[in-house]
Parts: sequence; C-alpha cells; structure tokens
Amino acid sequence: MSFLKKTFSILLVFIILCSIAACQQTSNVEMEPIYGTEFVLNTAATVTIYDSDNYDLIDQSFQICRDYENKFSKTIKDSEIEKLNSRQISIVSDETAELIETSLEFSAVTNGAFDISIGSITNLWDFTSEEHLVPDPNTINTAKEFVDFRKIKVNGQEVLFENENTQLDLGAIAKGYIADQMKIYLIEQGVESAIINLGGNVQCIGRKADDQGFRVGIQKPFDSGSAVILELDEEYSSVVTSGIYQRYFEKDNELFHHIIDPQTGFPSKNNLLSVSIISKDSATGDALSTACFVLGIEKSLNLIDGLEDVYAIFIDENYNIFYSSSLKEKINISQP
Ligand code: AMP
Ligand code: MG
Repeated sequence: MSFLKKTFSILLVFIILCSIAACQQTSNVEMEPIYGTEFVLNTAATVTIYDSDNYDLIDQSFQICRDYENKFSKTIKDSEIEKLNSRQISIVSDETAELIETSLEFSAVTNGAFDISIGSITNLWDFTSEEHLVPDPNTINTAKEFVDFRKIKVNGQEVLFENENTQLDLGAIAKGYIADQMKIYLIEQGVESAIINLGGNVQCIGRKADDQGFRVGIQKPFDSGSAVILELDEEYSSVVTSGIYQRYFEKDNELFHHIIDPQTGFPSKNNLLSVSIISKDSATGDALSTACFVLGIEKSLNLIDGLEDVYAIFIDENYNIFYSSSLKEKINISQP
C-alpha cells in the first residue's frame, strides 16, 4: 500500500511539474514585446520583437543598419558611395555592387523614373537646412546631363562610370534593402514575430499572433493619423511609402519636396501626396514607391499591374485614395 502511495505521489509531482512547464511555454507565446528606437538613416527607426526577450537582437540589428548606412550614404565621409562619387575607388563590397545592380534593374523597369545616378541633382537640394534655397535652373540643367543610369556599369565588384561627373544617390532604395537585411539577420537568430520600421519603411517577420497579422497604418499626409490600415503577414510583409510630407520646404507659397523628377531636376509635380507599395521585400517597395511617385497614377498602374506580388496605394492632393487592381483581394484593408 505504502509502495502504491509513494508511486502515486511521485506521479503527482511529475504531473504538477509538467503542467508548470506547459504554463511557462504558454506564457512565452504571450510574452511582452521588446523594442528599441534609434535615429538612423536620417530617421527614427524602431525594431519590435514579439517572441524574444533578448535585447541583444535589437542592438545587433541596429548595428547591421549602421554598418550598411556607413557603406551606402553619399554624405558620410569614406562611405563606399562617397568614395565612388569622388572616384577614389572603383571596387566595392559585394553588397554595394549588388545594390547598385538591383537599382539599375529598377531604373530599366521604371524607364528611369527611379534613377540612382540622380546624385548630381540631389546634391544641389538641401531639405534639412533652414535656408530653403531653390537651386538655379541653369545649374539644374547642367547637373541633369550627368543623370543616366545607362551610363553606369557593374562588373562583379567593379563600378564604372561612363560620365566623369555622374554621382550616385542610393537614398530611394537603401532603407528598403537594409530593412530586408535586418529581417534576414533576425530570422537567422530564430525570431518568428517582429516588425522593423525604418521611418515609414516597414518590414514584418511572421505574424503578431497565430490568427492576427500586423496592423500597419499608412500615414495621412501632413497629419499624424492614418489614412488606411493594412494587415500584413508573412506573405505580403512590406509596406513602403514615398510622400512629399516626408522631406520638404516651402518658399514663396510653393512646396519643394525631395522626390525629384529626373526629367526636370525639380520636385516631381503631379497631383500626388504619397505612394505606398506593398510587396514581399522592402527594396522592391522602396525603389517602386519613389518611381511610382514620379510616374503618377496612370503610368504607375500600368507598371504595377504588370508586376507580380506588388500592389500600390496612391493618395492624391484631395486625399482621395486609389488602389492598384486586386490589392483588396490580397490584403486586408480597413479605414481608421
Ligand atoms: P524615397 O523617400 O524612397 O522616395 O527616396 C527619396 C530620396 O531618394 C531622396 O531624398 C533622394 O535622395 C533620392 N531621390 C529623389 N528622387 C529620386 C529619383 N527619381 N530616383 C532615385 N532617387 C531619387
Ligand atoms: Mg524609395
């Protein structure tokens, strides 16, 4: 009898221990998210992880971000792009060569609406200073002659310029590429649920919960609220917005913003306030959001509808919202 009692109590202790372990397992799934915010890429960026309490993952992902910024920025001294632009080097890292090559492909697809050889023009504009200087049209016209993506060649790790004055600016694609690389790192570390937000360039990992994607707002231009709410998940995980409210100044009642039409050298003028691209990878979303802004709604719809797994949302100057075909069938959208 006492033997039976003993066996029974051991069994009971075992069952209790197992249920404690099971409870801890369950509480892990519902753990509090961890997050970090840093000023990188000239913007406030946040990484939120829902299934880990390891802050090293956040620090490491920002480190990856800064390392790439130090390669791709045209203004950071001794970055690879700065050294290419000053013709100090022609051989770059694999990543820089890869990003330039990808950019040239997007330039071809968008017929030059997105063009990383825009540097000679963007060097003339300063949207951060208080001076609000509009460059002289003659200077812009001269700078325009050096803009042509067809005159940049990538051969392995070598970057060649056919025009001595061409200047690179990866500002319209770097954030997206970097968000993708941060995602790859976090997934390698076992993260299954996270959001990387690089100042409006959002890339998600997995879902927020089994039955719930991430609800991401598209900003109402010049307003702190959202115009549209999207539910992103592992299939369509990225949304990137190019908007005139993100960087601009006003002079003599005219608004000058940072998305430049390579044909004119001046801020792209159409009736748009913003374009958002929903896609799988953020580099695609970033390049295409800038391109579609320059192309305007009609040409953009032709472009986007012909591409696979890419959708667009346009907000015009009257705050009307336009969606590319079949977006609503693929992505859960709601109004705030
Ligand atoms: P985004 O915010 O992604 O639309 O990128 C805008 C940034 O990319 C600007 O601040 C410029 O540095 C650069 N840029 C502006 N216009 C263009 C363009 N048409 N093609 C490529 N890069 C551009
Ligand atoms: Mg862009």
